[in-house]
Amino acid sequence: MPNLLGRHRAVMPSWLSLYYDQPIEIVSGKGCRVTDSDGRTYLDFFAGILTSMLGYDVPEVREAVERQLRTGVAHTSTLYLIRSQVELAEQIAALSGIANAKVFFTNSGTEANETALLLATNARRSDQVLALRNSYHGRSYGAMAVTGNRGWKNSSLSPVNVHYLHGTDRDRFPHLSDEEYLTFCADDLRQVLATATATDVACLIAEPVQGVGGFTAAPDGLLARYREILDRHGILLVSDEVQTGWGRTGEHFWGIQAHGVTPDIMTFAKGLGNGFAIGGVVADGALMDALPANGISTFGGNPIATAAAKATLDFVLAHDLQANAQRLGRLLIDGLRTAVDKLPVVGDVRGKGLMLAVDLVDPDSGAPSPALATRVLEETKRRGLLVGKGGLYGHTLRMAPPLTLAEDEAREGLGILVDSLTAVC
Ligand code: PLP
Repeated sequence: MPNLLGRHRAVMPSWLSLYYDQPIEIVSGKGCRVTDSDGRTYLDFFAGILTSMLGYDVPEVREAVERQLRTGVAHTSTLYLIRSQVELAEQIAALSGIANAKVFFTNSGTEANETALLLATNARRSDQVLALRNSYHGRSYGAMAVTGNRGWKNSSLSPVNVHYLHGTDRDRFPHLSDEEYLTFCADDLRQVLATATATDVACLIAEPVQGVGGFTAAPDGLLARYREILDRHGILLVSDEVQTGWGRTGEHFWGIQAHGVTPDIMTFAKGLGNGFAIGGVVADGALMDALPANGISTFGGNPIATAAAKATLDFVLAHDLQANAQRLGRLLIDGLRTAVDKLPVVGDVRGKGLMLAVDLVDPDSGAPSPALATRVLEETKRRGLLVGKGGLYGHTLRMAPPLTLAEDEAREGLGILVDSLTAVC
């Protein structure tokens, strides 16, 4: 097969994110490993981008999709009832913890957040939205408008009026205790509401652990503190669970549960289809039903995607992958802290479940170093490990392997990471 290297540049936009000096073309996968077009195999510690939640070539998912394909109908439209869609909606509504929940399926996380913003702004008849600094919510107009990370914001034009809150910048306030920081954030929210908004703010949208932002998490309990204030003003809470859903954070099934609150609206996508494109919104039925016009997503919730998603979710629950995420996440973070925390290029090691991050810093100045992160990425690639990158300055390595990761694979990936970080020192 002719090599793709370089050819993409002629026909694809320059702003398309691609990893590596020599980007790789993945041609097959099995378990937690993928193989590229040169026949090199890698342990995938990023699960695509948290998309291959169960790893690759999972018989249960493949068979569910094949069963649907054998009916002869890949998809007609969502004008007709789709059994796997309704059953998946029932399952997600029950898991959400939201009372009288209803579910709407989309093709991506971006569309899911767009729908959440639509629900909230429609319900409150307001275009004012609160978001967290350093957030990422997708690449459409509305989702980008509530994104608080300049590297991912391609336009300042906005269909909503956004105010950004503290919450994921704990490291900028080292002189405060956790409790003092939470109080500071709550005071800030009150100030923002009093000074920068009119009375009718629609919602706060927040990632319980920021994904693109570098796996940065607000201290547990922050969203409960926020919720108390939001409730007094009739402001809805939207949890963007695109990266944090399905048990990935280990301790909880949804990331927001670490804060001890149930949101009004939750969005999801990424791993649900184990590679098949599906996202969605789960919300209080009254909010969902309040939209005034007819709505259809031609492909959102199509039978291939929902069959894959149903098989994936069944697998997650049947094998208690949340517990696996918690156990192996602990093993990895302890291992990383022991082995690399003291390396001069490592600024921070953090994580929840199987969402783990290492910040790379210049050893002399301590400043974030995207260049070093890129070098480590090349080192891990050379040793057969794929990891992600992110963070406000692109200086964060992100590890989010499939939730099916085995202990020997966790140890293997850890060893490569330690070697790669040591190599750039
Ligand atoms: N929300 C979060 C938290 C994300 O991490 C992403 C994608 O990385 C999105 C939304 C957008 O999802 P998608 O790329 O499926 O549109």
